[in-house]
Amino acid sequence: MSTFLLEIVTPDRVVYSEQVNSVTVRGVEGELGILPGHIPFVTPLQIAPVYVKIGNERTPFAVQGGFVEVRKDKVVILAESAERASEIDRERAEAAKERAQARLNAKGRQDEIDHRRAELALQRAMNRIKVTQG
Ligand code: ATP
Repeated sequence: MSTFLLEIVTPDRVVYSEQVNSVTVRGVEGELGILPGHIPFVTPLQIAPVYVKIGNERTPFAVQGGFVEVRKDKVVILAESAERASEIDRERAEAAKERAQARLNAKGRQDEIDHRRAELALQRAMNRIKVTQG
């Protein structure tokens, strides 16, 4: 089975750099399966799990938005934060989820920017929880 180099990179670190058979991401227009030899392109990503396949093994990563760039020589996922399942603190994600939900449910006049921030925090927390579940 042919492979390509996949890098998952954040401003802090290289989260992942391996030869893989495929990667599935959720772009702004929906799910996207990338195989070796894909034509070069760039697209923004949703806050969603990224699934990497090597042979029969599928490994999920929590990727918090960002971009995927398919180049001739490699595929790069660049995001503000990204974690593999084993790096995720499940309790921290649960706490972040509850905080965000409490903000979204708060009564009274809501600042639109704070509302959007809480929504994004909720998406990040739910993404991390999903990835810890496999
Ligand atoms: P929190 O409110 O718990 O800080 P957050 O969604 O605001 O969550 P981010 O701003 O996305 O956090 O990430 C900040 C840093 O913390 C990044 O390096 C990210 O990888 C890490 N991080 C965030 N949540 C978790 C988690 N549940 N487990 C492990 N690392 C996490």
